[in-house]
Amino acid sequence: MFENLSERLGGVFDRLTKQGALSEDDVKTALREVRVALLEADVSLPVARDFVKAVQEKATGQAVTKSVTPGQQVVKIVHDELKHVLTGDEDPGKLKIDNPPAPILMVGLQGGGKTTTTAKIAKRLKERDGKKVLMASLDVNRPAAMEQLQILGVQIGVDTLPIVKGEDPVAIAKRAKTQASLGGYDVYMLDTAGRLSIDEELMAQVEAVRDVSNPRETLLVVDGLTGQDAVHTAENFDERIGISGVVLTRMDGDGRGGAALSMRAVTGKPIRFVGLGEKMDALETFEPDRIAGRILG
Ligand code: GDP
Repeated sequence: MFENLSERLGGVFDRLTKQGALSEDDVKTALREVRVALLEADVSLPVARDFVKAVQEKATGQAVTKSVTPGQQVVKIVHDELKHVLTGDEDPGKLKIDNPPAPILMVGLQGGGKTTTTAKIAKRLKERDGKKVLMASLDVNRPAAMEQLQILGVQIGVDTLPIVKGEDPVAIAKRAKTQASLGGYDVYMLDTAGRLSIDEELMAQVEAVRDVSNPRETLLVVDGLTGQDAVHTAENFDERIGISGVVLTRMDGDGRGGAALSMRAVTGKPIRFVGLGEKMDALETFEPDRIAGRILG
């Protein structure tokens, strides 16, 4: 998911570590290249600028240029700074789902991967945590979306709330809650409707659902391939709805990873999961340490 960036940084650091002694100018030149690499990866300008500044401050101290392996020291500083910019939750995959039945609200734009991700998370909760999960589609404008969730439910062996024609999203959310309580479910997931763009109607509908369901987690699902747009979408949803985390999808197709690198710094919200394919198992937790290691190879 960070192939391009990883390759670019790899080149910069190879040169740096091969050099024996390093002057402050060498470090500056390398960091200029790091900055370009970050911008090419679609990392937002302020984030890239702050990143390089932080590394520069730590790397131009006497200790680094005077040390025996200055190149490696710089790489270590970059690694730590990557971890810092990616800062996530200590345990991103641990959802707040005590006190059953716990509602999880899934929000996002249409086509971002919301329904697929709802099912992926349900499967994970069922298989890893032994939870009894109920999924409900609130996408009343798109019968095909409701059916899609039902089909995925059958495929992964997770129950879905029966579809009742003509019901509005708030009524469906209430029915999901009742069914989850009566049926002894640990978690119920509300897959809200998406729109092609953020609009008042979408936000008002999601707000109304949020207010009746009081979700324990509100996860925004966004297409990682959209880079900076994904970050803006997250800002908008957070302002209006309040989100507890982000799931970045299609990271199997994003060799740049810019959205992942800017998300926390810009929105203050952690990435909890990344989607790495269409299959139901193609979901990973987002752990900064591991990701930083992956970027630096
Ligand atoms: P929704 O409109 O937001 O509910 O989007 P869907 O869940 O219907 O997903 C739209 C398309 O994206 C489907 O064809 C999914 O299989 C695909 N998709 C979802 N997540 C991923 C992912 O992480 N990687 C890839 N490659 N495809 C994905």
